[in-house]
Amino acid sequence: MGSPRESSPTLNLVMLGPPGAGKGTQAERISRTRRLPKISTGDILREAVHNRTPVGCAAREDMEAGRLIGDEVMIAIVRERLSQEDARNGFVLDGFPRTITQASALDRIVDGRGPLVVLDIVVPEEVLVRRLASRRICGECGQNAAVDWLSVCGKCGGQLIARIDDGTEIVRERLGVYHRQTVPLVDYYSARPTFRRIDGNLPPDVVTDAIDTALAEASARGVHL
Ligand code: ADP
Repeated sequence: MGSPRESSPTLNLVMLGPPGAGKGTQAERISRTRRLPKISTGDILREAVHNRTPVGCAAREDMEAGRLIGDEVMIAIVRERLSQEDARNGFVLDGFPRTITQASALDRIVDGRGPLVVLDIVVPEEVLVRRLASRRICGECGQNAAVDWLSVCGKCGGQLIARIDDGTEIVRERLGVYHRQTVPLVDYYSARPTFRRIDGNLPPDVVTDAIDTALAEASARGVHL
Protein backbone atom coordinates (compact mmCIF):
# COMPACT_ATOMS: atom_id res chain seq x y z
CA MET A 1 0.00 0.00 0.00
CA GLY A 2 1.38 3.39 -0.99
CA SER A 3 1.32 6.27 1.43
CA PRO A 4 -1.12 9.14 0.60
CA ARG A 5 1.89 11.14 -0.57
CA GLU A 6 2.80 8.52 -3.19
CA SER A 7 -0.75 8.07 -4.45
CA SER A 8 -1.43 11.80 -4.89
CA PRO A 9 1.50 13.54 -6.61
CA THR A 10 2.20 17.16 -5.85
CA LEU A 11 0.60 19.97 -7.84
CA ASN A 12 1.81 23.41 -6.80
CA LEU A 13 -0.36 25.56 -9.00
CA VAL A 14 -0.30 29.33 -9.53
CA MET A 15 -3.15 31.01 -11.42
CA LEU A 16 -2.05 34.22 -13.12
CA GLY A 17 -4.31 36.58 -15.01
CA PRO A 18 -6.10 39.92 -14.77
CA PRO A 19 -9.10 40.65 -12.53
CA GLY A 20 -12.15 39.00 -14.07
CA ALA A 21 -10.17 36.38 -16.01
CA GLY A 22 -11.96 33.58 -14.16
CA LYS A 23 -9.01 32.54 -11.98
CA GLY A 24 -11.21 32.07 -8.92
CA THR A 25 -13.79 29.93 -10.75
CA GLN A 26 -11.15 27.70 -12.31
CA ALA A 27 -9.11 27.51 -9.10
CA GLU A 28 -12.24 26.33 -7.28
CA ARG A 29 -12.82 23.57 -9.84
CA ILE A 30 -9.22 22.33 -9.82
CA SER A 31 -9.20 22.41 -6.04
CA ARG A 32 -12.35 20.25 -5.92
CA THR A 33 -11.31 17.68 -8.55
CA ARG A 34 -7.72 17.33 -7.31
CA ARG A 35 -8.56 17.71 -3.63
CA LEU A 36 -6.09 20.49 -3.06
CA PRO A 37 -6.67 23.62 -0.97
CA LYS A 38 -7.59 26.72 -2.96
CA ILE A 39 -5.73 29.63 -1.45
CA SER A 40 -7.20 32.92 -2.63
CA THR A 41 -5.50 35.97 -1.15
CA GLY A 42 -8.48 38.16 -2.15
CA ASP A 43 -10.84 35.87 -0.16
CA ILE A 44 -8.46 35.79 2.82
CA LEU A 45 -8.30 39.60 2.83
CA ARG A 46 -12.08 40.05 2.36
CA GLU A 47 -12.68 37.73 5.30
CA ALA A 48 -10.18 39.72 7.38
CA VAL A 49 -12.01 42.95 6.47
CA HIS A 50 -15.36 41.34 7.33
CA ASN A 51 -14.05 40.16 10.71
CA ARG A 52 -12.30 43.49 11.37
CA THR A 53 -8.98 41.83 12.19
CA PRO A 54 -5.90 44.12 12.38
CA VAL A 55 -4.82 42.97 8.87
CA GLY A 56 -8.36 43.57 7.56
CA CYS A 57 -8.61 47.06 9.08
CA ALA A 58 -5.22 48.01 7.62
CA ALA A 59 -6.04 46.57 4.15
CA ARG A 60 -9.58 47.85 3.68
CA GLU A 61 -8.88 51.29 2.23
CA ASP A 62 -6.32 50.01 -0.31
CA MET A 63 -8.60 47.16 -1.40
CA GLU A 64 -11.56 49.45 -1.93
CA ALA A 65 -9.37 51.76 -4.02
CA GLY A 66 -8.08 48.86 -6.12
CA ARG A 67 -4.49 49.16 -4.85
CA LEU A 68 -2.28 46.26 -3.82
CA ILE A 69 -1.60 45.41 -0.18
CA GLY A 70 2.08 45.53 0.84
CA ASP A 71 4.31 42.63 -0.18
CA GLU A 72 5.50 41.95 3.37
CA VAL A 73 1.97 41.40 4.71
CA MET A 74 0.94 39.27 1.72
CA ILE A 75 4.07 37.10 1.85
CA ALA A 76 3.58 36.49 5.59
CA ILE A 77 -0.06 35.45 5.00
CA VAL A 78 0.85 33.02 2.22
CA ARG A 79 3.93 31.62 4.00
CA GLU A 80 1.78 30.81 7.03
CA ARG A 81 -1.04 29.30 4.92
CA LEU A 82 1.34 27.12 2.88
CA SER A 83 2.89 25.75 6.06
CA GLN A 84 -0.42 24.15 7.03
CA GLU A 85 -0.84 20.39 6.75
CA ASP A 86 -3.48 20.44 3.98
CA ALA A 87 -1.08 22.27 1.60
CA ARG A 88 1.70 19.68 2.00
CA ASN A 89 0.77 17.76 -1.18
CA GLY A 90 0.05 20.83 -3.25
CA PHE A 91 -2.21 23.85 -3.53
CA VAL A 92 -3.97 26.15 -5.97
CA LEU A 93 -2.93 29.77 -5.49
CA ASP A 94 -5.37 32.39 -6.76
CA GLY A 95 -4.32 36.06 -6.58
CA PHE A 96 -0.76 35.45 -5.39
CA PRO A 97 1.91 36.26 -6.46
CA ARG A 98 1.07 39.67 -7.91
CA THR A 99 4.50 41.30 -7.85
CA ILE A 100 8.05 40.15 -8.63
CA THR A 101 8.91 40.44 -4.92
CA GLN A 102 6.02 38.09 -4.06
CA ALA A 103 7.04 35.68 -6.84
CA SER A 104 10.63 35.37 -5.66
CA ALA A 105 9.45 34.94 -2.06
CA LEU A 106 7.14 32.15 -3.25
CA ASP A 107 10.04 30.40 -4.98
CA ARG A 108 11.87 30.41 -1.65
CA ILE A 109 8.81 29.22 0.30
CA VAL A 110 8.22 26.20 -2.00
CA ASP A 111 11.90 25.35 -2.45
CA GLY A 112 12.20 21.56 -2.19
CA ARG A 113 8.45 20.98 -2.55
CA GLY A 114 8.35 20.25 -6.32
CA PRO A 115 7.97 22.67 -9.26
CA LEU A 116 5.48 25.51 -9.47
CA VAL A 117 3.05 25.08 -12.35
CA VAL A 118 1.94 28.47 -13.65
CA LEU A 119 -1.19 29.04 -15.75
CA ASP A 120 -1.63 32.47 -17.29
CA ILE A 121 -5.31 33.02 -18.15
CA VAL A 122 -5.60 35.51 -21.00
CA VAL A 123 -8.77 37.57 -21.66
CA PRO A 124 -9.17 40.79 -23.70
CA GLU A 125 -9.58 43.95 -21.65
CA GLU A 126 -13.06 44.93 -22.90
CA VAL A 127 -14.38 41.50 -21.91
CA LEU A 128 -12.90 41.89 -18.41
CA VAL A 129 -14.58 45.26 -17.87
CA ARG A 130 -17.94 43.83 -18.97
CA ARG A 131 -17.58 40.74 -16.79
CA LEU A 132 -16.63 42.71 -13.67
CA ALA A 133 -19.50 45.18 -14.12
CA SER A 134 -22.04 42.34 -13.97
CA ARG A 135 -20.29 40.21 -11.32
CA ARG A 136 -22.19 39.65 -8.08
CA ILE A 137 -20.94 38.11 -4.86
CA CYS A 138 -22.76 36.94 -1.74
CA GLY A 139 -22.81 39.64 0.95
CA GLU A 140 -22.75 36.90 3.62
CA CYS A 141 -20.22 34.25 2.55
CA GLY A 142 -18.38 36.11 -0.23
CA GLN A 143 -18.96 33.34 -2.81
CA ASN A 144 -19.04 34.47 -6.45
CA ALA A 145 -22.58 34.13 -7.85
CA ALA A 146 -22.42 31.78 -10.84
CA VAL A 147 -25.44 33.30 -12.60
CA ASP A 148 -26.53 36.90 -12.29
CA TRP A 149 -30.28 36.28 -12.54
CA LEU A 150 -30.32 34.64 -9.09
CA SER A 151 -31.16 37.09 -6.31
CA VAL A 152 -29.72 35.02 -3.46
CA CYS A 153 -26.56 32.97 -2.96
CA GLY A 154 -26.89 29.34 -4.08
CA LYS A 155 -24.59 28.28 -1.24
CA CYS A 156 -25.92 30.06 1.87
CA GLY A 157 -29.01 32.00 0.77
CA GLY A 158 -27.36 35.38 1.49
CA GLN A 159 -28.16 38.53 -0.48
CA LEU A 160 -26.08 39.11 -3.64
CA ILE A 161 -24.21 42.39 -3.97
CA ALA A 162 -21.69 44.02 -6.33
CA ARG A 163 -18.12 44.14 -5.01
CA ILE A 164 -17.18 47.72 -4.08
CA ASP A 165 -13.98 47.36 -6.12
CA ASP A 166 -15.91 46.20 -9.24
CA GLY A 167 -17.15 49.76 -9.96
CA THR A 168 -15.93 50.99 -13.39
CA GLU A 169 -13.42 53.58 -12.06
CA ILE A 170 -11.85 51.13 -9.61
CA VAL A 171 -11.74 48.39 -12.24
CA ARG A 172 -9.65 50.73 -14.45
CA GLU A 173 -7.30 51.28 -11.50
CA ARG A 174 -7.07 47.50 -10.84
CA LEU A 175 -6.32 46.81 -14.51
CA GLY A 176 -3.64 49.52 -14.43
CA VAL A 177 -2.10 47.96 -11.32
CA TYR A 178 -2.27 44.56 -13.02
CA HIS A 179 -0.38 45.84 -16.08
CA ARG A 180 2.27 47.64 -14.05
CA GLN A 181 2.87 45.12 -11.28
CA THR A 182 1.63 41.68 -12.32
CA VAL A 183 2.23 41.43 -16.10
CA PRO A 184 6.02 41.38 -15.45
CA LEU A 185 5.43 38.00 -13.79
CA VAL A 186 4.77 36.51 -17.24
CA ASP A 187 8.42 37.24 -18.12
CA TYR A 188 9.50 35.96 -14.74
CA TYR A 189 7.82 32.58 -15.32
CA SER A 190 7.50 32.09 -19.08
CA ALA A 191 10.84 30.35 -19.67
CA ARG A 192 9.94 27.59 -17.21
CA PRO A 193 8.78 24.25 -18.68
CA THR A 194 5.83 24.40 -16.26
CA PHE A 195 4.39 27.67 -17.66
CA ARG A 196 1.22 27.50 -19.80
CA ARG A 197 -0.95 30.17 -21.41
CA ILE A 198 -4.71 29.49 -21.39
CA ASP A 199 -7.39 31.28 -23.45
CA GLY A 200 -9.87 32.50 -20.83
CA ASN A 201 -12.26 34.10 -23.33
CA LEU A 202 -14.26 30.89 -23.70
CA PRO A 203 -17.10 29.27 -21.72
CA PRO A 204 -15.97 28.13 -18.24
CA ASP A 205 -16.23 24.38 -19.06
CA VAL A 206 -14.07 24.81 -22.17
CA VAL A 207 -11.47 26.67 -20.10
CA THR A 208 -11.53 23.86 -17.51
CA ASP A 209 -10.91 21.29 -20.28
CA ALA A 210 -8.02 23.37 -21.64
CA ILE A 211 -6.49 23.53 -18.17
CA ASP A 212 -6.85 19.75 -17.72
CA THR A 213 -5.15 19.22 -21.09
CA ALA A 214 -2.34 21.64 -20.19
CA LEU A 215 -1.74 19.87 -16.89
CA ALA A 216 -1.78 16.45 -18.59
CA GLU A 217 0.70 17.67 -21.25
CA ALA A 218 3.04 19.06 -18.63
CA SER A 219 2.80 15.71 -16.87
CA ALA A 220 3.51 13.77 -20.09
CA ARG A 221 6.61 15.89 -20.72
CA GLY A 222 8.07 14.62 -17.52
CA VAL A 223 7.01 17.40 -15.22
CA HIS A 224 6.00 15.51 -12.14
CA LEU A 225 2.46 16.72 -11.34
P1 ADP B 1 -9.20 40.38 -8.51
O1 ADP B 1 -10.59 40.19 -8.97
O2 ADP B 1 -8.65 41.77 -8.76
O3 ADP B 1 -8.28 39.29 -8.97
P2 ADP B 1 -8.86 39.61 -5.72
O4 ADP B 1 -10.08 39.13 -5.07
O5 ADP B 1 -7.78 38.63 -6.06
O6 ADP B 1 -9.34 40.44 -6.97
O7 ADP B 1 -8.16 40.76 -4.83
C1 ADP B 1 -8.89 41.86 -4.34
C2 ADP B 1 -7.94 42.88 -3.73
O8 ADP B 1 -7.20 42.27 -2.65
C3 ADP B 1 -6.85 43.41 -4.66
O9 ADP B 1 -7.30 44.47 -5.47
C4 ADP B 1 -5.79 43.85 -3.65
O10 ADP B 1 -6.16 45.06 -3.03
C5 ADP B 1 -5.87 42.76 -2.61
N1 ADP B 1 -4.95 41.63 -2.90
C6 ADP B 1 -5.29 40.33 -3.15
N2 ADP B 1 -4.20 39.57 -3.37
C7 ADP B 1 -3.13 40.40 -3.26
C8 ADP B 1 -1.73 40.23 -3.38
N3 ADP B 1 -1.19 39.03 -3.69
N4 ADP B 1 -0.92 41.31 -3.20
C9 ADP B 1 -1.44 42.51 -2.90
N5 ADP B 1 -2.74 42.75 -2.76
C10 ADP B 1 -3.60 41.72 -2.94
